[in-house]
Amino acid sequence: MSVTPCTKQARVQDVGILTTALRSFERAAAGLGLPDHLYLKLLNPSEKIETSVTPILPDGRVLEIQTFITQHSSILGPAKGGIRMTADVTHDDITGLAMEMSWKTSLIGIPFGGGKAGIRCDAESLSSDEKEIVIRSFTRGSRRHIGPELYVPAPDLGTNERDMGHIWDCISYSSGTAITNGCYVTGKPPILGGVVGRREATGKGVVYTIVAACEQLGLDPGAIRCAVQGFGNVGAVAAAELAALGAKIVAVTDLRGGVFKDDGLDIPSLTAHVVSTGSVNDFVGAEVLDQDSIFGVACDCFVPAATGSQIDAERAATIRARIVAEGANAPTTPEGDEVLDDRGLFVVPDILCNAGGVFVSYLEYTKETQREQITLSGVETRLRKRMQSAFEEVCARAQTNRTAMRQAAMEIAVSRVAEGVLSRGLWP
Ligand code: GLU
Repeated sequence: MSVTPCTKQARVQDVGILTTALRSFERAAAGLGLPDHLYLKLLNPSEKIETSVTPILPDGRVLEIQTFITQHSSILGPAKGGIRMTADVTHDDITGLAMEMSWKTSLIGIPFGGGKAGIRCDAESLSSDEKEIVIRSFTRGSRRHIGPELYVPAPDLGTNERDMGHIWDCISYSSGTAITNGCYVTGKPPILGGVVGRREATGKGVVYTIVAACEQLGLDPGAIRCAVQGFGNVGAVAAAELAALGAKIVAVTDLRGGVFKDDGLDIPSLTAHVVSTGSVNDFVGAEVLDQDSIFGVACDCFVPAATGSQIDAERAATIRARIVAEGANAPTTPEGDEVLDDRGLFVVPDILCNAGGVFVSYLEYTKETQREQITLSGVETRLRKRMQSAFEEVCARAQTNRTAMRQAAMEIAVSRVAEGVLSRGLWP
C-alpha cells in the first residue's frame, strides 16, 4: 500500500471554507514573497480543540454534540471570532474561519488574533430552553479555552446575543462573582455589558463599504439596485440600511425561499413579515424568486450574506452586478473568485466587508476591561470611520499594485501579522 504524504498541495484539495482560506492565504504569501518560516508559522493554526458534550434536555433526551475551537493565531492578541452553531459545521470549516479572523482583525486594526468555535447541532431545531442548555454545556466543556487573554467568542451563524448572555452568566456563575474579570465574550445583550449597536454593526459596516465602492465606481449609492442573499443579522440590517439611503432592494432570498420586486421591496414591511412568519416567502406584492436565481438578478450590487462557498465558478459567471459585497464569511470559492476577477467585478472581500462586527466587539472588549460606558453615536462614528479608512487603505494598495481588492486586503492583513511575528522575535 502506498502512502500519500500530507503536503501543502494535498491539503488544499479539500473543498469548502478551509480550502478558500488556504488558497487566499497562499496567494497573499506569494504576493508578499513570504519566507518559508513565516509562511508555515501563519499557515498552521496554533491550537485546535475538539470536545464532546452530552447535555440532557428538559424532556429527558440526551444529546451528543461535538464542539470545536480553533485558535489560528494569537500573535497580535487573544484569538477572536464567533461561535457557529449548525448541523453540519466541521472542524475544517472552523479552522478556515479562524484563519480568516486573523486577517480580519489585523486588517481592521484591532489587537486580536483569530479564532472560531463550532457547535455541531442544528440551532433551529431546539427550543430556546434547549438551546440554553446546549450553550451552557458548550461553555462548561470549553471553559478553560475561553478567556480575555485566550479566546473571546461572539455570535456567528446560529448563535445570537442571548446565547452570549448565557455564556457570560455561566462563566461569572462558575467563578462565584457578579461579573467576569475582564471580557470573556462579546455580542452580549447591552444590559449585561454588551454595547448598543453591536447587533447591527456587521450589516452597517457592509453598507459603509458599499457606499465607498460606489464612490470608486462613480455610482450614486442612493440610486443603486441591490440583491441580497440571506436575511439574517447581516443581510436584513444591510438591506434596511441600503433602503434607508434610497437604494432599491429588488431581490432577497433566505433559507426557505426568495422574493423579487423590480421597483424595490419595502424592507421595513418585509422585516415585519419575516418576524411574524419566519421567512420572506409570501410577501404581499412580491414575485416568487427561486433561491438560485438571486445570482442572475440584474442589479448594481449583489450582497452574499448567507453562508460559505455560495459563489462558485458557474454562479460567478451569471452574476449581473458591478459590486459584490461579501457580507458572509468565505461566500466565494477560489474558482468563483477567478471568474469574478476575470469579469472585472468590484469585489469587497469578506475580511473587509464584514469586519464591522468584530470591530464593535473590540469596543465592547475595551469598555468591559475599563468599565467605561459608550453611547450608540460613539459606536457608530468609530465604526464608520474605521470601515472607511480600511476601505481606502485596501483600495489604494489594489490600485498601486493593480491587484484585486481581495489580494490587496490579504496582503495588508498578512503582512501585519508577519510583522507581529518578527517583532515578537525568535520562537523555539
Ligand atoms: N462572527 C463575526 C465574524 O465572523 C464576529 C466575530 C467577533 O465579533 O468576534 O466576524
